[in-house]
Amino acid sequence: MPSDPLRAIRLQVEGGQYSLTPDYQRAVLKRIDDMITGVDSADQAIEHRGRPDAPAAARYTANLFYISGHGWRRFLADSAESVRVGIAIGLALRSSLTSALEQLAPMIDVTRTKISRQGDGVTLTCAVCDGDAVTFSVSRTGPEAPEQMVVSSLSPVTVFRTIAGPRMADLLALMDGGDAAEVVKYLTVTQPAGCDACCPTCGGVYCKTHTAIEAQWTGSWHEATYATCPLGHEREIE
Ligand SMILES: [Zn+2]
Ligand SMILES: [Zn+2]
Repeated sequence: MPSDPLRAIRLQVEGGQYSLTPDYQRAVLKRIDDMITGVDSADQAIEHRGRPDAPAAARYTANLFYISGHGWRRFLADSAESVRVGIAIGLALRSSLTSALEQLAPMIDVTRTKISRQGDGVTLTCAVCDGDAVTFSVSRTGPEAPEQMVVSSLSPVTVFRTIAGPRMADLLALMDGGDAAEVVKYLTVTQPAGCDACCPTCGGVYCKTHTAIEAQWTGSWHEATYATCPLGHEREIE
């Protein structure tokens, strides 16, 4: 089975090979079980009746990479032993996902993102599912106020940002030009937060469903927000 490498690590953890405290051992075993379920689901989506369901598979892989990467470091890596087992589990996960990823990666066409118009709004579409990855709408905060462009974010904390003046005019002109990559590039170069739906490593623009997103808080203080793409690239988006 594809998840065999994870099952092998599970046996080692259960057998006490990583000298984890009982609480940690339970948490780690639970996390491995979640990964095994995720790998099996990703595999079923890819094998789906001979017609791969790439959007479903990509949703699983983004989450799997997150829980074995940033999610692991954040919630399970506060002892040397849990770091060590986390690295071993990360490798086992990659190996468990080899076949699914070999099939999924070519189906994610990072040039597929298009500019789509819906009513008064404009969107950049997701490279996996063609759903909305970034939405843009022009509005005013009051009758006398100047127009501004409201741009959505992947972040659950800063859910949108605004752009006004010449930059907004430039963006509208680029949208009329119809080249999605130019719009992404302009946002990346001119905006402090860039284009947060775009993974800088693979260049894909992904929607919220196809990005694993986590906002990190210390009490009421928002520290950062992290995103992981379906191909396993992690980034900080704010
Ligand atoms: Zn999507
Ligand atoms: Zn990526």
